[in-house]
Amino acid sequence: MNKPKDLFKKCYDFTLADDVKAQGIYPFFHPIDETEGPVVSFDGKQLIMAGSNNYLGLTSDSRVKDASIKAIKKYGTSCSGSRYMTGTVNLHIELEEKLADYFEKERCLLFSTGYQTGQGVIPTLVQRGEYVVSDKDNHASLVAASIMAVGQSAKFVRYGHNSMEDLERVLQTIPESAGKLIVSDGVFSVSGEIVDLEQLVALAKKYHARILIDDAHAVGVIGRDGRGTPSEFDLVDDVDLIMGTFSKTFGSLGGYVVGERSVINYIKHNASSLIFSASPTPASVAAVLASLEILKNEPELMERLIRNTDYVRQGLKNAGFKLMPSRTAIVSVIIGDQMKTLVFWKKLFDAGVYVNAFIRPGVMPGHEALRTSFMATHETEHLDKVITEFCTIGKELGII
Ligand code: PMP
Repeated sequence: MNKPKDLFKKCYDFTLADDVKAQGIYPFFHPIDETEGPVVSFDGKQLIMAGSNNYLGLTSDSRVKDASIKAIKKYGTSCSGSRYMTGTVNLHIELEEKLADYFEKERCLLFSTGYQTGQGVIPTLVQRGEYVVSDKDNHASLVAASIMAVGQSAKFVRYGHNSMEDLERVLQTIPESAGKLIVSDGVFSVSGEIVDLEQLVALAKKYHARILIDDAHAVGVIGRDGRGTPSEFDLVDDVDLIMGTFSKTFGSLGGYVVGERSVINYIKHNASSLIFSASPTPASVAAVLASLEILKNEPELMERLIRNTDYVRQGLKNAGFKLMPSRTAIVSVIIGDQMKTLVFWKKLFDAGVYVNAFIRPGVMPGHEALRTSFMATHETEHLDKVITEFCTIGKELGII
């Protein structure tokens, strides 16, 4: 008889995090004790935040904070239920109308996180015998959502990262009669690279596929007044569904999808992650409403964000670092080795610069990187310090 195996054995055997902690180079779950935009405090020590998705710096904008406080006073701290039942307040409807209008689509539907938005859209639309066709580098939440579709007998196929030749090859293998949803990040979350949307739209038309773009890292960064990737390419009408998150440019928490009336209506009445989960809090929704007004009325914030990011990108490139291809607010420095990435991360932390270490499972072995991202509210002195510390440590570790 086989010996019974304890389900928890894998947990008891998992030592990576403890090993890295023992070496003093653990880069995750560090609690910030105070934050004021681009400068944050850990254990009372001030660091420049060069890894946040708070692209326009709106989490500490007094107008956004005041809107949240006002909403708490009026509606309380939670809606205590799902949108479907008792959890809808006026603010949800107001935000859906305003976002549909801003993104130039018929309807919008809010979710409680961006992660749940993918889970609400993909398995709801892609059913038995239908196909999710996904870029290999899509965000983990889209992969998880696609696997949920597989659970209901849909097919999940992937194509080489941003390779339109490979996308066409994959589309050719799918029966013409099957429904297909091509899914791609608009701006890829690890590299900051922009999807080849013109070609993707052309292939979707040729092979009768629908398109879902996850614009989490594009809104407030590219497109007319920050409307994201479809707007950047002037292809808003050709992209069927656009989803995103409130946890980046909008300085809040939650997610949304925009598209045509009947499709959004179908998702609204069938998406499990919407119907069986509590709605975004009044404070979160009110923050987005305030941020949206700022985004529409203050284009100079986006200009500053791009100027700031370009400044660092150029500085690191000139110093000889290998960067992932990007012209958005993400600058990822390729290190290509797990231990070197962790040591580099710790040295930057000690020098007063906070970035993100991307190791397994965030990236494949050999693609380890330090991912930096910038804000409209960084000052030149912050950016200079980031470049200087990268150069000093990069030389010390033999990376440049
Ligand atoms: N999609 C992409 C491309 C993302 O980068 C993220 C967050 N990193 C999400 C979805 C999930 O969004 P949220 O944080 O709102 O759950």
